[in-house]
Amino acid sequence: MTSAVAEVPGAAATVEYRTTEVRCLVCATTRSLDDDQPKIGTVRWKIVAHAELHLGTAVSFDCPNGHSSDADPHLLKSFPSRRF
Ligand SMILES: [Zn+2]
Repeated sequence: MTSAVAEVPGAAATVEYRTTEVRCLVCATTRSLDDDQPKIGTVRWKIVAHAELHLGTAVSFDCPNGHSSDADPHLLKSFPSRRF
């Protein structure tokens, strides 16, 4: 199943946003293990789809305990760009 469609120069890439749930690293390192507060945060990804490559870049992170990339942009470094 090969596609013979050539890539059109200058074709606009499609951009979409998606969220994934991940364990909050700040909570994991600062809260005790028997603390059963939710530690799952939400990463928001900007996904650029070009041809068959869907590359996501983390644009924000928030966890229910108040850890946010707005307050600490370094949090986003935990989420390297990845394919979707
Ligand atoms: Zn957290």
